[in-house]
Amino acid sequence: MQPDAKIKAYDPQKVLAPGSTIGILGGGQLGRMLALAGRAMGYRFVTLEPTPDAPCAQVADEQLEAAYDDVEAARRLAELSDVITYEFENVDANVTALLMQESYVPQGSTLLYTTQHRLREKRAIEATGVKVAPYAEIGSVDELRAAVARFGTPCVLKTATGGYDGKGQWVIRSEEEIAEAYETLSQARTELVLEQFIRFTKEISVIAARSPRGEVKVFPAAENVHVNNILHLSFAPARVDADVLERAEAIAKMIAEGLDVIGLIAVELFLTEDGELFVNELAPRPHNSGHYTMEACRTSQFEQHVRAICNLPLGDPALMQPVVMVNVLGEHVQPLLDWIVQPQSEHVAGVTAKLHLYGKHEAKEGRKMGHVNLLANTHEDAIRWIEASHIWDAN
Ligand code: AMP
Repeated sequence: MQPDAKIKAYDPQKVLAPGSTIGILGGGQLGRMLALAGRAMGYRFVTLEPTPDAPCAQVADEQLEAAYDDVEAARRLAELSDVITYEFENVDANVTALLMQESYVPQGSTLLYTTQHRLREKRAIEATGVKVAPYAEIGSVDELRAAVARFGTPCVLKTATGGYDGKGQWVIRSEEEIAEAYETLSQARTELVLEQFIRFTKEISVIAARSPRGEVKVFPAAENVHVNNILHLSFAPARVDADVLERAEAIAKMIAEGLDVIGLIAVELFLTEDGELFVNELAPRPHNSGHYTMEACRTSQFEQHVRAICNLPLGDPALMQPVVMVNVLGEHVQPLLDWIVQPQSEHVAGVTAKLHLYGKHEAKEGRKMGHVNLLANTHEDAIRWIEASHIWDAN
């Protein structure tokens, strides 16, 4: 059921002081880092997560070990919490409705409803006056043929729901692929959307925070490099002209205000050769490309999210020095552990490496296990550090 956008889930007067309990739906690394930041400020945490000893549970006061769509467990979470947030966007609609009735969910359900579905998300972004890549809703193979003829190849067919890290997508490179692409993605039983292929020069992202009192703060734009569709590096500030940084940050602010966001919103953008910016997608939560803020900004994205949902004054998001964040996937863990216990003879002068590991038990290939923030005088120094460490040689 569509939430009523006119009913505000938040109360501009309500402030949750430290000592309050924050309930988190989900117990992965985003919840863990949120709890670590919030505990430092004196908040208490309870997480609802089916995996025993999950990353967030290891640092929270309590874990409710149950499925995300377990309504009884959600009710218990509501009882234990003064305010509730989530660390992933595919929150079950029944659970959201129950939590909103029985607890305080200032982020509401409207933004979740919007960002759970690519078509709704694109329409909502356009309604704020911000550009997305040209797209078409696809209901049949004939509609797909017509839209491919319009956009030309390559173009990208995506499922409206359920896709992440490049899953649920098909880059159509020739007309011969149309039938197979349609057949394959239709199996997901959700609407499809065709997007024009954007020949971007860079992918950048901006995280904004907004609080119930209407305050908005925007983190510096990061430039992201993906390997096999998974984020590998984030550079902050993004290595783009100052006017691009300003425009990207202004877009994030427009979206945060236009969509009545509470908490964080991560805005992923494509930058084209002629300086145009198109929004690719949104995430209404802390984002992997914002992990650089943990040591490089005066306030981290996690602290900012706690501040926003609790309606405290927002922190200063200013960047203190150049930083490169590099993700640690399953295949990087052993080389990292071998490296970290060695005398650090290979270190690059002026680079400080800040290690974050998420406490996951199994280091599967491609699984996000941690990240390293490299604080440096220049981005080049940070890259030299990555190369000298040999931890990411397999990439
Ligand atoms: P997404 O799941 O939408 O974030 O897409 C995953 C990746 O596919 C993006 O980070 C881009 O590298 C690429 N991609 C997605 N959509 C487009 C597009 N319309 N044009 C060009 N590349 C795209």
